[in-house]
Amino acid sequence: MNEHYPFVNPPLPYGYNALEPFIDEKTMELHHNRHLQTYVDNLNRILKNYPEYHTLSLEGLLFYLDSLPEELQTPIKNNAGGVYNHIFFFSNMKNPATQTPALPCNSYINTVYGSFDAFLNAFRAAAISVFGSGYAWLVMDVFGRLKIITTANQDTPLSLRLQPILNLDVWEHAYYLKHYNKRDAYITDWFHVIDWDKVSRNCSSPFPLY
Ligand code: MN
Repeated sequence: MNEHYPFVNPPLPYGYNALEPFIDEKTMELHHNRHLQTYVDNLNRILKNYPEYHTLSLEGLLFYLDSLPEELQTPIKNNAGGVYNHIFFFSNMKNPATQTPALPCNSYINTVYGSFDAFLNAFRAAAISVFGSGYAWLVMDVFGRLKIITTANQDTPLSLRLQPILNLDVWEHAYYLKHYNKRDAYITDWFHVIDWDKVSRNCSSPFPLY
């Protein structure tokens, strides 16, 4: 991934079929090659005539969204968000995956949710509650507190000054081919491919200031 404009669609960190049988090859291929690629292309087209922002990182564009010119805010929110959210989502999956978080992430989770299973249930409920298209997230605030939130469309926690730890894409394109309209079944399958080694590292990284 380029640090700044022109942005590129980075290859998946695994093969399109690597998450089978939990997430199917065709869904991964369309999701990465078509959906994410479209956001990358749109983002570059939007930024083309704004050279003053060509040195900003993807995260920086989103973190300082409300400082951008008004006419850029919605297109950047949607398209830089679409790029960031997808890359982050793809980077936190693996198969086979470690099924539980490492220290200190697991103790943070236990402190807030009581147990790892209780956390999974809370995350599932949040993901189910998203009406229409969006994401469920585990985030950390500037004080190091974990929280589950949901966002609509391609909004990102970065624009809320929250650090993303884990996200789940619940747009129908993420699961329709294999799970049809059954989001709950998709969530159950996705639980098998969360890369908790990577997510645990996200938990331990310092709060970013882009
Ligand atoms: Mn998606």
